[in-house]
Amino acid sequence: MNIMILGPQGSGKGTQAELLVKQFGFNYVEMGEILRSIANSNNPKAEEIKGYLNSGKLVPDEFVRTVAWDHISKKESSLREKKKGFIFDGYPRSVAQFEQLEDMLRRFGKKIDKLIYITIPEEESIKRLSARRDCTKCGRIWNQITNPPPGPETCECGGKLTQRGDDQPEAIKNRLGIFHANTGPILKKAREEGILTEVDGERPIEAIHEEIVKELGL
Ligand SMILES: [Zn+2]
Repeated sequence: MNIMILGPQGSGKGTQAELLVKQFGFNYVEMGEILRSIANSNNPKAEEIKGYLNSGKLVPDEFVRTVAWDHISKKESSLREKKKGFIFDGYPRSVAQFEQLEDMLRRFGKKIDKLIYITIPEEESIKRLSARRDCTKCGRIWNQITNPPPGPETCECGGKLTQRGDDQPEAIKNRLGIFHANTGPILKKAREEGILTEVDGERPIEAIHEEIVKELGL
């Protein structure tokens, strides 16, 4: 079974994806993280990718396709042996990427079985993301609402905490706007294909997880 998990920033989709990975052994494809690591590497495209990520703009479909193909083709055979699937987090981000992914999976006789969409109101997204703090020393991510650090601006390691530039309210609003404009058509397509499940993200982590497991029939 191959799953996509989508939701606006702050919806907790990453947490839900990780729970599914831990419990069922999916291969976790977190595209945002993969792209971020490319942006911080000596890849010739690093600066260009960094520019897209920092402005909240979509990384071009063709580049994302190459990255996804690289990952899928490397992992596919071991997953097939273990009868496990992929879980795609925050990817695809456009209908073109959705179709590219379907095409890549088809080459292995696979498909996207379910798209889980975690919903959360815009004010809640802004509230949760504005509370996020990164440690400047060890890189650990805290959240003053959902995962409070030991000191108001201090990490467990003693490092100073900082707020990412793209986590200021205006930047968040801008990213949410882009997210919804791109995601609307994907949800429409998934609904037409009969694979869309919407889940209310304003509940305890465990309750959301249970509903997802039930919806997936796992
Ligand atoms: Zn730290």
